[in-house]
Amino acid sequence: MLPGLSKCLQRIKAHPEGLQALHRTLKAKVYPPPPNFTVRHSSQFTMTAPCVEGMIPLIQKVQALHKDRYVSIQWNDGTQSLYPYVWLRDNCQCPLCFLQSAKARKILMTDLDVTTGVERVLLTDPTKVSIVWPDFHTSVFEAEWLRKRCFSQPSRENVQENLFLNERYYWGSDLRIPTVSFKEVLTNDKAAFFWLTTLRSTGIVLLKGADIQQGEVAKLSKRIGYLRLTFYGHTWQVQDKTDANNVAYTSEKLNLHTDYPALHHPPGVQFLHCLKQAVEGGESEIVDGFHVANLLRKTNPEAFSILSSVKVDFTDTGSDYCDFAVQSKNQIIDVDGEGHVVRINYNNATRDSVLNLPVNQVQPFYDALKAFVNLLHSPDNVVSFRMESGDIVTFDNWRLLHGRRNYLSDPDSPRHLEGAYLDWDEVMSRLRILRAAVQGEN
Ligand SMILES: [Zn+2]
Repeated sequence: MLPGLSKCLQRIKAHPEGLQALHRTLKAKVYPPPPNFTVRHSSQFTMTAPCVEGMIPLIQKVQALHKDRYVSIQWNDGTQSLYPYVWLRDNCQCPLCFLQSAKARKILMTDLDVTTGVERVLLTDPTKVSIVWPDFHTSVFEAEWLRKRCFSQPSRENVQENLFLNERYYWGSDLRIPTVSFKEVLTNDKAAFFWLTTLRSTGIVLLKGADIQQGEVAKLSKRIGYLRLTFYGHTWQVQDKTDANNVAYTSEKLNLHTDYPALHHPPGVQFLHCLKQAVEGGESEIVDGFHVANLLRKTNPEAFSILSSVKVDFTDTGSDYCDFAVQSKNQIIDVDGEGHVVRINYNNATRDSVLNLPVNQVQPFYDALKAFVNLLHSPDNVVSFRMESGDIVTFDNWRLLHGRRNYLSDPDSPRHLEGAYLDWDEVMSRLRILRAAVQGEN
């Protein structure tokens, strides 16, 4: 996936040249002007895929097709779009129907006639369509607004990708971790946009040059919006602690895991700031969980089917920000309605001894989990690196599994990382705003 981006990621190590090159690739890759192709609609109409970015399309002809209750628009590039009457009435942009200051619909569903007809349609100029409804309410729609909302499949796919950036670049052990300057991310919109688009597509970005003090991950979260409070606090300190309330707070090896599957909605994004590295050991390990889950689906479909269907109990009990007794049920591999892997939920430490399975399904579950874990730990899939003081690793906690090797610390100056969580909704919100600032989109 994203072969251009893949090549570019091999090239970049640090900015600014690498950053600019990748930025150009991202811009080209993430927001492509779609090809003009034709799909057959269920009725007799031929619909095409308009939405060419950067060009304001003009309307050549508008017609009300009463039989199917569509308004048909012929564009000046020879393509056609169809809009159902009910959708147009529902999305009238006039001040009675739409509150511009909130960009929100005012029409009440109880007042919407879902079988409305159309009295007449008018092309007032090539960029505006007026629709007069049977009660003589009038709606005016801009060509650009309509074009973006064309119902053809390619057009809808393009809009969805623009909104959610679901195209991913999968990787194995050959990944070179994309790296950006922490200070640039804080002060420069292009650097911040590069950071978040890469975090989305690749799942990890290393920020270098943060100050060696607590509070830097909180500062970084303010660049986005706000961080996510959990029972481990607003931010949390990864150190070797006596009577640790979490296995991370020891000097032991941590196997590959995602954080917090004991929550039904685990944190989407994680920041880890290295304040002090260990004298010996403590290297980080990461794996692309989506890539490995897809490998499992190919090589061991039965294991994939078990891990994507069995709801596993997770548990986390203790006291930190306050006392807690958390329980969840999550599939280890979460798949959406279209079969895409959308989240990995796996931490062996908090997997509950309560296992809600008929007794004869227990052994097959363990066989499936073992097959997945073996694939995760395969040298082809693991990337190892060593964080140094001032590094902040930012990664997709729904996608990457991470671990660390055991370590030996200097008792006078122990290993210390500070961590924080965010959610993808907040991160994607900032990404869209930065995109508008950097690319002048709306
Ligand atoms: Zn209206």
